[in-house]
Amino acid sequence: MSGFFSKKETQSLQRPDGKMLSCPVCGLYKTALSPRMQPHGNFKKGILNIGEAPGETEDRRGKQWQGKAGKVLKNAYAKLGIDLFDDCLNYNAVNCRPTKDGGNRTPTQLEIECSRKNVLAVINQYKPKVIVLFGVVPLISIIGHRWNEALEGINKWRGFQIPDQDFKAWICPTLHPSFVMRSENNKGIETIWLQDMKKAIELIDIPFPEYKQPEIIIIDDLRVLNEIRPPSTIVIDYETTGLKPHAAGHRIVSASVAVSSNKVYAFLMPKKASLRKPFVDLLKNRSIKKVAQNIKYEHNWSKEILHTTVKNWHWDTMLASHILDNRTGITGLKFQTYINFGIVDYSSTVNKYIRAKESNDLNKVKQYIKTEKGKQELLKYNALDAIHTYRLFEQQELLINNILPF
Ligand code: URA
Repeated sequence: MSGFFSKKETQSLQRPDGKMLSCPVCGLYKTALSPRMQPHGNFKKGILNIGEAPGETEDRRGKQWQGKAGKVLKNAYAKLGIDLFDDCLNYNAVNCRPTKDGGNRTPTQLEIECSRKNVLAVINQYKPKVIVLFGVVPLISIIGHRWNEALEGINKWRGFQIPDQDFKAWICPTLHPSFVMRSENNKGIETIWLQDMKKAIELIDIPFPEYKQPEIIIIDDLRVLNEIRPPSTIVIDYETTGLKPHAAGHRIVSASVAVSSNKVYAFLMPKKASLRKPFVDLLKNRSIKKVAQNIKYEHNWSKEILHTTVKNWHWDTMLASHILDNRTGITGLKFQTYINFGIVDYSSTVNKYIRAKESNDLNKVKQYIKTEKGKQELLKYNALDAIHTYRLFEQQELLINNILPF
């Protein structure tokens, strides 16, 4: 489907030697009047706009945003008190004009890959405070190669303000001005677009929030957990052998308990019930509030495998993500962690072990923890899931308590 991209389609097309494809490989420079167009603008407010590619007018004049779409963008920024060429720097995901039968066309995946190095170099050189991505093409260019899942279309991403920890800049994806221009429901789309852009420029004065590394405590003896007392709020998270607690042979391999947004315990789940007791006591304690990303998962596994009903569920971050924004495909913890805290990937080392092929199948996690390295990696991952859930919970609680009238 046009506008939707799978994981494979958006990740780097690497050469066999592992290097990124470079600029001349796509060959667009051969037909462009302004090959490898350089960034343009005085950049007074530290905003970098990344568009799709130069069109016919841009190619002739050697500068970005010179045609109809540029005019629409210039006017939109002007409404928000921003001068497109004085306050911003302007660049495109693809730096030479792609053409078809003499007209403009959308760049191909290969062309985006070939220009990526240039785009990353511009970000590195100018160190923008805010990067506004207009449409899916720049999204593929600067997020696609770092994103582990299917990227999908711009509608999933637009409107978020991502504190990207790799670039130390806010990334704000939104619609392309040509799309806004051509949309039938022009007024509604334009309003959404202006809102996205307004939120983006408001970030200029907001200090960049650096990700704080949490304190991860790996424990063997669960009695340490006895120190957690009411009125604590804890996040619990499990790593399991698959998805179905009722299916034969399944078990909880590890668990993590975050006691704040910065401190988390992680441990392999003891097979002996007596050794699990401090953890089970926590679950049963009615005075300790429990939070999870998708409560029913932790609830069902606790019930089935630990024979315990978790008491005092307080918050489900997955449900709250949906309440705050009901677009599809955005409530997963990995997506929420990226858009809220700017960590684009903390799971790629463990993904191949924790994912099973079919819903009743066993994954490879038991084999993974047989080595010390595998065990440490799994527990760290498990701990980070709980920490990100805790941070999400605190942020969501503030938002929901402030915006909803109860
Ligand atoms: N469209 C873009 O995406 N970039 C330009 O520079 C001009 C039009």
